[in-house]
Amino acid sequence: MTEYFEVHERDGAARLGELRLSDPVTTPALADPFLADAGSLWAAERTVPDGDEGALTVLPHRAFPAGTRDEVRESFAVDHPAVEFPSAAVVDSEAPRDVGADAYVLADASGFVGHGEAFKEAIVTAKDALPADTALVLSGVATPRNVALLAYAGVDLVDATLARTKGTQGMYCTADAEHFLEDLEELPCACPACATPREAFTRADCADHNVNALRAELRRVRERIRAGRLRDYIEGQTRHEQWLTAAFREFDDQWGYLEERTPLMRDAEVTAATSETLDRVEIRRFADRVTSRYQNRFTDQPLVLVPCSATKPYSDSQSHGQFHDAIQWRGHTVSMTSPIGVVPQELETTYPAQHYDAVVTGDWSEDEIGFVSEVLRRYLERNDYSRVIAHVPEDGYREICERVEADPAVDVPFEYTCVGHPTSDESLGELNAALQGEPAYSKREREHNTVRALADYLLGDGAGNDLFGGPGEADIRTTGRYPKLQVWGDDPDAGREGEPGEQLATMVPQYGTLSFTIDGARRWVESDAPTKRVEIDPFVPHGSVLAPGVVDADDDIRVGDEVVIEGPKAFAVGRAEMSGPEMVSSTRGVASEVRHVDET
Ligand SMILES: [Zn+2]
Repeated sequence: MTEYFEVHERDGAARLGELRLSDPVTTPALADPFLADAGSLWAAERTVPDGDEGALTVLPHRAFPAGTRDEVRESFAVDHPAVEFPSAAVVDSEAPRDVGADAYVLADASGFVGHGEAFKEAIVTAKDALPADTALVLSGVATPRNVALLAYAGVDLVDATLARTKGTQGMYCTADAEHFLEDLEELPCACPACATPREAFTRADCADHNVNALRAELRRVRERIRAGRLRDYIEGQTRHEQWLTAAFREFDDQWGYLEERTPLMRDAEVTAATSETLDRVEIRRFADRVTSRYQNRFTDQPLVLVPCSATKPYSDSQSHGQFHDAIQWRGHTVSMTSPIGVVPQELETTYPAQHYDAVVTGDWSEDEIGFVSEVLRRYLERNDYSRVIAHVPEDGYREICERVEADPAVDVPFEYTCVGHPTSDESLGELNAALQGEPAYSKREREHNTVRALADYLLGDGAGNDLFGGPGEADIRTTGRYPKLQVWGDDPDAGREGEPGEQLATMVPQYGTLSFTIDGARRWVESDAPTKRVEIDPFVPHGSVLAPGVVDADDDIRVGDEVVIEGPKAFAVGRAEMSGPEMVSSTRGVASEVRHVDET
């Protein structure tokens, strides 16, 4: 049971937490001012200290060297008493174990910090073994240059020991470099220590500066987490040291670790500035869901591929307005874009399709061409079209289409309709002509297919048809003006007076998702669509469900997911504030918001 640590915000694996000492501390933070070490049992017999509310007391511990055999660990294992004050336990990354502490110090940190793969392994192992609502502490390893990555990986507390030591050794640390003090003609910092004239600046001043720089970097990290933008910073900042770049890539390769911890949607824009942007969870998750969950239901129309626009959603842009006037509902519009891949028209508002900002140079890198080609190829393997009309400009777009067209696994013919610029009169005329004789779809089809596609994306393959009926067998009605669609059941006797049946869901235009009503949630659990379920104790939740009330939760629940909340006394629907695994292992914090609840 964690009494003294609570996670308030999450940005991937990074967290903004609160260490509830008598003076609460917002983490990630420096632990030096309040860390009280009761000492190692290898050195002396020690009694459990009295502890106090103002300190995080490290209970007496025994650390083991790397490679210690399990039997040896067992026979020297330390009993961790239940204490009434904030406590930390010392464990190591080879055999971390949950002993009921508020925080865990990884004793072997100096062995793995500095090595990308070892660092990733150690953190992932520790996080898997330790409850989500406990703080992870690394001592003796933080510098202004590595602390952002430590926090990005999920470290909550560090100390200034190494930064101070480096200073006394004449090493001047900044967020992007470490300099020999004697090599510096000017001090690239304006902290109080650096106000000392250069010639009078001593190693003691240098140590003070290093600690200041570490503290400043932690402030930056906390601000970035609050804004949901730590990743944008890391993509650039880790360039300044090889092991940081390596570690950052190791975490990208450990897809599950970051994916579980990354919200489905948020306000933060994805800034696409480096090739690593293509490896971000948000980008890969979108590409993955578009090619494994989404299904095209405009089966009477050809596919029309168009370039993305800077304005989002795309349909609000001038160029897409012109494409639309030429297409006239006779084609299924899918936008091609880096770094997202392909965006079917139904998902143009879905996070992050209208929440990214690319550096537009007109030049596509080989990585981008490869990525978008792969997504388009997988999209066409899954969805059948009679024709593909590629209304795309030269440069990258055309090359991608030609590459996919040449793939033996893709057997649909491509036609190209751009003559110069896609919005030139000639190009638009060609597009219009190519669609002569194709049938138009109706507004109702468009609206129904949009909410079905959102259900596919949110819940899983086939969910749109399971929930709302497939094309031709819809048992819903939609009202409202796109993108503010409302979904209703088609039983005219079921709803309140004056309403067309019972309301099931509302489209949330800001994130391109669905929010369900109680009737919608009931239809959802009764359907074949994959359910995301949170099981709770016998109580009726109002406003939110706290983690201690959660009995069980599906593993695949992510922050931002729609969830059904069920217990002996209540049936409710809401939006997850934690991942499923975190709900189950946490003893503090809001597990899910509750939108509607029925007492049962
Ligand atoms: Zn300074």
